[in-house]
Amino acid sequence: MFNKVLIANRGEIALRVLRACKELGIATVAVHSTADESAMHVRLADESVCIGPPQSRDSYLNIHQIVAACEITGADAVHPGYGFLSENARFAEILEAHNITFIGPTSEHISMMGDKIEAKRTAARLGIPVVPGSEGGVTDDDEAKRIAADIGYPVIIKATAGGGGRGMKVAQSEDELVVALQTARSEAGAAFGNDAVYIEKFLSKPRHIEVQVVGDGAGAGIHLGERDCSLQRRHQKVWEEANSPALNDKQRKEIGEICANAIAKMGYRGAGTIEFLYEDGEFFFIEMNTRLQVEHPVTEAITGIDLVHEQLRVASGAGLSVRQSEIKFEGHAIECRINAEDPETFMPSPGTITHYHTPGGLGVRVDSGVYAGYRIPPYYDSLIGKLIVHGRNRVECMMRLRRALDEFVVDGIKSTLPLFQDLVQNLDIANGDYDIHWLEKYLAAKH
Ligand code: ADP
Repeated sequence: MFNKVLIANRGEIALRVLRACKELGIATVAVHSTADESAMHVRLADESVCIGPPQSRDSYLNIHQIVAACEITGADAVHPGYGFLSENARFAEILEAHNITFIGPTSEHISMMGDKIEAKRTAARLGIPVVPGSEGGVTDDDEAKRIAADIGYPVIIKATAGGGGRGMKVAQSEDELVVALQTARSEAGAAFGNDAVYIEKFLSKPRHIEVQVVGDGAGAGIHLGERDCSLQRRHQKVWEEANSPALNDKQRKEIGEICANAIAKMGYRGAGTIEFLYEDGEFFFIEMNTRLQVEHPVTEAITGIDLVHEQLRVASGAGLSVRQSEIKFEGHAIECRINAEDPETFMPSPGTITHYHTPGGLGVRVDSGVYAGYRIPPYYDSLIGKLIVHGRNRVECMMRLRRALDEFVVDGIKSTLPLFQDLVQNLDIANGDYDIHWLEKYLAAKH
């Protein structure tokens, strides 16, 4: 196992990784920007290094500074968390060249999955069902029209280098297609420096269901069931559950096995998520994320498996701690992403938290990096904490969530807690009856 791990991230995930390292007796190094000097992960780490000014590109995305911090502190591995450099193949490559382990997949697997067209091709080759669409990138408008007519409208145009829901455009007809192609290309070029786009059938009312996998890099792969992340706003997940209220045990086992076999065949090392849209009993691959995800705790709640421990194990060569046959899914878990945002307009609300009280009790977990007196800097994403609740079944989980939300106090700034207090009372949510458009429609109807 590693002696010292540098955590190349901030906020709740930096703390999450730090906790796992401490449990395994691994020393920790926090890196931080000048805006994060008083952050919790910096306070709790064994060592800390300031890597630059507030802007992410100068600090959390600054590869040279992070490598230098490794050299200074003698860290033998880096955990990238999620976001920032977590899916940056060049970062993984540079670390390996410095004899520092990147806690994640090989740079080849990161690049392969980072290019969504190549990811889709790979998925199809490995027996994973994919969304019907163009074979590869589409540059020619006439070709685009042919493909769209073939798969049938509506279609969605997506950026090959896409992420975070940006650069996607839906076209209902051929007229809309040409305009949508143009906007998607220019948005993708501006956001990712790569204007390649591809076309897919637009699914009208799917659920977003994703499978958690972990591979040991030597041909073993397991799945830890699925998460339902259909409640989204602007393609950003807001509420996640495990298991999905829409699947039965047979479907769960089938799609899980397809994913576990695929990553075993790839020789994939590390944790990953295979994302699907699910409609009328069918799964359609959309992408694979080659990192730990924000919503991983719901999987931990129902399996009892610490995913960061598994990441550390497989990265160090110690192998997986469990076999597929030992993994059991117990009860139901829901995660709410609490953002420092206005609950109605979703405008960011940075500032100082004056009062802070987190809920507790059986089946309640809060992953957060904030505290009373903490000043939320305006430079980073607005996630301030995740409330994860576990119950023996979905009904118990919802009851527990309701009371946990009532206990949660965040004062001094605006937070999205009131949104969850509304959602937890909603009948469709109680019935698990929602698709990826449900939340947007609900929010639109409220105004
Ligand atoms: P990103 O990498 O930008 O997050 P994804 O491919 O994961 O992009 O898609 C993000 C979200 O966009 C999905 O969760 C879904 O809400 C929507 N989406 C993507 N592809 C389709 C599709 N073919 N049909 C309908 N909605 C889609």
